[in-house]
Amino acid sequence: MDGEIRRCPSCGQANKIPADAAGKTVVCGKCKTPLPAGSGAHPVVFTDANFRTEMAKGPVVVDFWAAWCGPCRMIAPVIEELAAERTDVRFAKLNVDENPRTASQFGVQGIPLLIFFKDGAERGRVVGAVPRNRIEAAIEQYLK
Ligand SMILES: [Zn+2]
Repeated sequence: MDGEIRRCPSCGQANKIPADAAGKTVVCGKCKTPLPAGSGAHPVVFTDANFRTEMAKGPVVVDFWAAWCGPCRMIAPVIEELAAERTDVRFAKLNVDENPRTASQFGVQGIPLLIFFKDGAERGRVVGAVPRNRIEAAIEQYLK
């Protein structure tokens, strides 16, 4: 995987992981703390067709977005980062223009919008390009 970013749990530094690092211990470039392996996953793509099935598979954070939405591009790398690091929660993206049925079902008006699902039901939502720590706090609040 090329250009994976892993955040240091000790100092918060974002480290670029070299492509040949698989199976090796990688340390933080700043403080030399070993970096946790993480899940290395990417956000799952949710659509009108797979939404019900996918959403019921366990705790998931769904990023409702659109190509024309500037702030959506700010939150996208944060979602990518969290998806790669966290193994306890899944992350997904749903394009509201391509999937109007799901978007209208959840009354999506402003985007970016993160909706937190657990046990097949909505547990909470956060609107706007919020910082990473706000997303992590919402995960604790809604999905734990
Ligand atoms: Zn560090």
